[in-house]
Amino acid sequence: MAEGIEIDGSYKEGGGQIVRTSLALSALTNTPVKITSIRSGRSPPGLKPQHLAGAKAVRSICRGELEGAEEGSTELQYFPGTIYGGKYKFDIGTAGSATLLAQTILPLLFAAPKPTRIKITGGTDVPKAPGYDYFGKIFLPALSMFGLDAKCSLEKAGYYPQGGGVIELEVEPGSPQPVSYWPRVSVPRAIVSISGLPLAIAMREKKVMLNNAIEDVRIRERESPGQGNTILLYKGFVGSYFLGRKGLRAETVAGNAIANLEAEADAEVDYHLADQLLLYAALAGKTSFKTSHISNHTETNIHIIEKFLGKRFSVDKNVVKVE
Ligand code: ATP
Repeated sequence: MAEGIEIDGSYKEGGGQIVRTSLALSALTNTPVKITSIRSGRSPPGLKPQHLAGAKAVRSICRGELEGAEEGSTELQYFPGTIYGGKYKFDIGTAGSATLLAQTILPLLFAAPKPTRIKITGGTDVPKAPGYDYFGKIFLPALSMFGLDAKCSLEKAGYYPQGGGVIELEVEPGSPQPVSYWPRVSVPRAIVSISGLPLAIAMREKKVMLNNAIEDVRIRERESPGQGNTILLYKGFVGSYFLGRKGLRAETVAGNAIANLEAEADAEVDYHLADQLLLYAALAGKTSFKTSHISNHTETNIHIIEKFLGKRFSVDKNVVKVE
């Protein structure tokens, strides 16, 4: 493709994050992109509603052009335009992740010339994505470490399969600043959220936390068209987010969240946050963080970012560094 970048969507993880990062960097660097073999690491491959909505949201915000923007498409081209702030509403139409859609467009909104207000309808707490509490208590505060200001609020929670959750975002323009110090927090906090299910489930999860000396546990009953239960256990920028599901005992959900946080004991930022911060680290420069382990997502995202921005990262013993 002339003067553009071609991205192999099957690289390593071969998932949706390759599409999100590529579209955001295409828009930010004003470089056309062609993504091939989209989500070939997933079954079925190709664009799902969440990725499609993300691509269309990027097009709305940047007034660019898309080719191949259809559900199931394994090839997508984007020709970026100019980034505009303002007011937007996006509806994924399924329980596809609203927070991942937000993560697709946030880098552009920080680069917009004026503040933006956005409403996103979709899944707020769905498998294999950052849940609403993770997004609000860990991801956005981590962005504020880069000097970036975005606030979120939850109108309704949305779970699989109904979706119908609504989050609102307010984003101020700003450019990411270097971060090399990530404060560690020793006292854990937990948020147990529940919709359309007996409160006793949340109480049982809280009991497990209390029995493990986790004392700051808040229960949130949330309005939703569906049913769901989530736990976020966190210490600063180290989070452990778990979704309850039918057939999984409340004690197991809480136990998983605790075990997961323990596995992150040495980290400044947890391994999910690590892959989610890479774009900002690359743009800010002079940034470093220690995570618990280097995931496939992190390796994949580094590769995609470097395709656009050139060599940026070094990784040594779970420390990710940008000079
Ligand atoms: P796909 O269906 O292709 O997997 P996707 O776009 O939903 O598509 P990935 O490319 O796998 O997904 O990216 C998932 C993102 O969600 C990653 O940034 C990952 O760190 C994040 N994530 C997944 N699970 C959690 C969790 N429990 N807590 C926080 N973040 C999570």
